[in-house]
Amino acid sequence: MRENDIIVIGGGLAGLMAAAVATKRGKKVTLLSLGSGTLTIGGGIVDVMGYLEGGKVAATPSAGLLQVGPEHPYKKIGRPAIEEAIRFFKEICEQEGYPYMGNLDEMQWVPTAAGTVKPTCLIPRTMDTTELKKADKVMVLGFESLKDFYPNLIAKNFKKIPGFAQKEYETVMIDPKLAEGRDVTALDVARWLDTEEGLANCIEKMRKVIKPGDVVIIPPVLGTRPNYLVAERLEQALGCHFVETAAVPPSITGFRLRTMLVKYLKKIGVRMIEQATVAKSIVEDGKCVAVITEGVDRERTYYAKSFILANGGFYGGGLLAEPGKVIEPIFNLPVEAPSDHELWANYSLFSNEAQPFAKLGLDVDEKMRPLDANGNVLINNVFVAGRNLRGYDYSFEKSGNGVAIASGYQAAMSV
Ligand SMILES: Cc1cc2nc3c(=O)[nH]c(=O)nc-3n(C[C@H](O)[C@H](O)[C@H](O)COP(=O)(O)OP(=O)(O)OC[C@H]3O[C@@H](n4cnc5c(N)ncnc54)[C@H](O)[C@@H]3O)c2cc1C
Repeated sequence: MRENDIIVIGGGLAGLMAAAVATKRGKKVTLLSLGSGTLTIGGGIVDVMGYLEGGKVAATPSAGLLQVGPEHPYKKIGRPAIEEAIRFFKEICEQEGYPYMGNLDEMQWVPTAAGTVKPTCLIPRTMDTTELKKADKVMVLGFESLKDFYPNLIAKNFKKIPGFAQKEYETVMIDPKLAEGRDVTALDVARWLDTEEGLANCIEKMRKVIKPGDVVIIPPVLGTRPNYLVAERLEQALGCHFVETAAVPPSITGFRLRTMLVKYLKKIGVRMIEQATVAKSIVEDGKCVAVITEGVDRERTYYAKSFILANGGFYGGGLLAEPGKVIEPIFNLPVEAPSDHELWANYSLFSNEAQPFAKLGLDVDEKMRPLDANGNVLINNVFVAGRNLRGYDYSFEKSGNGVAIASGYQAAMSV
């Protein structure tokens, strides 16, 4: 039987990050995960803090961090650990040949497929907007039958955005001929561009509609592999500059990031067990001894010295909502929630307030250990990271992957 120092539960960004940090600290880590998490639908850009309470834009991610309330995970983690976590993440990306741009002192504004711009912090190089900002004329290029990406909508909406409104926009389409009677996804186009034949074919088609020197907004389809080869080959062949928009699910930027991190974890010796559903835990005298997975065949028991719970929120499966209560299913940790679930939602969807339900989650101390309602640590060797934490609405404030990285880091540094 393998001796584990740490079991990480969940293979989303928080779990992957926690496994990387713990292994780098010399721990023997096993990661148990049911699926790939929200990275592959949400996207590989790292929001840290875009909007403050009341919907005001944070001048920089750093400035946003200063404004968070006492319940926010960032408050528990603290600024030095957040900085270290970002540095650690960027180092992995650099080392693995897929460097990310950005830092806490600069807000990146990236184009979305809806023709808006959104604030974020760390981005792949293919989303760099330096050339886009300088261009007088911008091309918006779409792919026939590709779902959820409409160049005309982007061009029309960009005409309303300060800083982008004065530019001229031209929209063009190319047909990758991938449809075969169905909708095409970003993954289909990215896989087409992964192949030599597809890339050559695409260059030929693009050459007819764009010219050297053009700055081209494109959906996030520049290859599924965690590198910039497809972008470089297209840019070299066409003499253009491409800017990928934020994700259209399935998210190729998230797919690239996850592929890179999983490869890195395997390289450094993390044992990854996928399709493992952790169903319950064995806790004795305030200490977790083991967790138990359920599969199609039989239960398996995994023992370790410490456990990192990074299995997501309502979407990932880490939190379950029932009328009037929220359940954390593995350790049965308490989640404070109004019993009148009418109070969980802010019914004005586009208001300047966060959604109360999004802020429901597990309360932790500064080491990310779960707390009861009186602030006492419930299980000494369990550490919580990611979307299951309470006190933040990632969608409203734009902080999802930032909290995942920072809390994964902090949990792994605390074990
Ligand atoms: C549509 C969408 C768009 C988004 N866009 C952005 C964005 O642009 N920028 C940004 O920064 N953030 C974005 N986010 C938020 C961001 O994706 C998440 O906040 C963050 O990645 C959460 O990571 P996590 O690891 O905590 O959780 P998850 O990604 O949910 O991962 C949890 C993992 O745990 C596994 N799991 C659950 N239960 C069990 C179990 N019992 N046993 C074993 N494994 C289990 C799940 O299968 C999953 O692999 C977006 C989210 C969504 C949904």
